[in-house]
Amino acid sequence: MKLLVTGGAGYVGSVCAAHLLEAGHQVVVLDDLSTGHRDAVPDGARFVEGELGATARAVLGEGGFDGVLHFAARSLVGESVEAPEKYWDGNVVASFRLLEAIREHAVPRLVFSSTAATYGEPDQVPIPENAPARPTNPYGASKLAIDHMITSYAAAHGLGATSLRYFNVAGAHVTGTVHLGERHAVETHLIPLVLQVASGTRESISIFGDDWPTPDGTCVRDYIHVDDLADAHLLALQHASAGRHDVYNLGSGHGFSVREVVDACRTVTGHPIPAVVAPRRAGDPAVLVASSDLAASQLGWKPSRTELERIVADAWEFARGR
Ligand code: UDP
Repeated sequence: MKLLVTGGAGYVGSVCAAHLLEAGHQVVVLDDLSTGHRDAVPDGARFVEGELGATARAVLGEGGFDGVLHFAARSLVGESVEAPEKYWDGNVVASFRLLEAIREHAVPRLVFSSTAATYGEPDQVPIPENAPARPTNPYGASKLAIDHMITSYAAAHGLGATSLRYFNVAGAHVTGTVHLGERHAVETHLIPLVLQVASGTRESISIFGDDWPTPDGTCVRDYIHVDDLADAHLLALQHASAGRHDVYNLGSGHGFSVREVVDACRTVTGHPIPAVVAPRRAGDPAVLVASSDLAASQLGWKPSRTELERIVADAWEFARGR
């Protein structure tokens, strides 16, 4: 297929672009490089620098596209609380423009990068797709608004769409000479921060609260390897059907606590990794674990890189190579 990958210079987008190329697809990456890196765009992809409005329109206007995979987004929860306008504009308005370009040029398929943040504080864990969507921050709200837009475009304009709700994406795509991983200017995610301690660029890791109602008192999350996540995108492309918008959670279905993550990083790196208990971080739910049964039964998706140490080892391999 000929595919447009927005945000293909970012973490998840670049890994998915690599998987698409390895599967023999033709890939055009569109990225404004506001948070992505030019050198993360995999060899073999054509790169276009630009935004989701006029540039996306021009690229799709070249014709022949079978689908769009839409990763480009702002994704910092804290920033979204401080400056929500950046999320309504950068996520919702920009995605609306992209959807309009998709409609104008009759692109048949869309796979959208949604998030567990659309659910907010869950009533039940593991979280199924039909759980109430009550995001607790503008980031999650902006992604949910886009999901609603996509539903209406599928119904009215025949788009075949899939939203994939990611839980805690981690690890790296490490094959031969290709190393693609998490490289944020402002890093907020647990595993890369812990690995910064192991590589000597950070003194210690702060554990945000050890008095949560969980077995060891620290928050529990569902860490999913970025390569398993990429596999789901390829399956979603094949599964797309005109006029339908499907929503699937992507997680391993298993939760690990912050302390378990820090311990896995100690084992993998051999570094003692000092940890300091700090106050809870605003907006953190105690436990977030996905039910991915629907992705398993409908897409035939089965994550295969689910051991925490495997995930951390790949992230460490990437971090060490930088
Ligand atoms: N966390 C932590 N210390 C840090 C960064 C994160 O204790 O320096 C915790 C955070 O409170 C959450 C978990 O690690 O419970 C995962 O956080 P992350 O930001 O990686 O992902 P999120 O679950 O917020 O999407």
